[in-house]
Amino acid sequence: MHLKGKTALVTGSTSGIGLGIARALAAAGANLVINGFGDADAIETERKGLEELSGGKAIHDAADLMRPDAIAAMFARIEGELGGVDILVNNAGMQFVSPVEDFPVEKWDAIIALNLSAAFHTIRHTVPGMRRKGWGRIIGTASAHSLVASPFKSAYVTAKHGLVGLTKTVALEVADAGVTVNCISPGYVWTPLVENQIPDTMKARGLTRDQVINDVLLASQPTRQFVTIEQVAALAAFLTRDEAANITGANLSVDGGWTAA
Ligand code: NAD
Repeated sequence: MHLKGKTALVTGSTSGIGLGIARALAAAGANLVINGFGDADAIETERKGLEELSGGKAIHDAADLMRPDAIAAMFARIEGELGGVDILVNNAGMQFVSPVEDFPVEKWDAIIALNLSAAFHTIRHTVPGMRRKGWGRIIGTASAHSLVASPFKSAYVTAKHGLVGLTKTVALEVADAGVTVNCISPGYVWTPLVENQIPDTMKARGLTRDQVINDVLLASQPTRQFVTIEQVAALAAFLTRDEAANITGANLSVDGGWTAA
């Protein structure tokens, strides 16, 4: 319970990796702000579950992170209700698979807005409070695609490489303020984001579903296993500990050996 009295905002935490990170931070005692879309009853059940885990408060804010004004409103609400953000996890993200010459312009803009620019906005709202308190943790869910590319994912690979650049830059700016800034870069984790890209990958590469899973997704990972949500969440929770105070500006891979190749 090393995070008792601290507040964590995890973007895109109504599903997948973000929800796993929210649970791990709540288990360490943090108040939680979960963010993202989905079924209202399911979100309320998760919210209550987080309060049971932490013994603290959990709120849901459905800010659309593609809109800087909605991000600003969410931060104003968190300041009023929970006294600001001590742990920021920039996790929300989306994927779209298409050859670059056919890549829909609106999908490019949406992926850059959500996977990259949203992190700039959340960080600029968060840093002043962390500086005042002399403590903070900023974590981005990047991807193996922050280090290597795959064809047909131009916007996603661009945004994830950019997120690492933002992470390193801000890490240097706040290094003397008790604030660490890092990325976690998972390989393939079985979540709706991966499930949803299978049909487009089948189309783009002319493959069956099983071929996409075994010959495209798991082929990248020497362990031949999907990374689990819990494995990513455990590393995020470790980064919030005092033992991690000198890990900053890092991009930590959890990818079954993918980027070692
Ligand atoms: P997911 O689709 O399960 O969850 C995405 C979350 O983002 C959901 O809570 C959704 O409601 C939210 N979201 C979507 N659009 C939003 C918006 N405009 N505003 C606010 N919230 C929004 O995805 P996931 O697989 O858990 O991915 C989470 C992060 O992990 C992403 O950044 C993704 O790029 C990254 N990642 C995933 C994998 C993987 O294999 N699943 C691998 C590496 C990195």
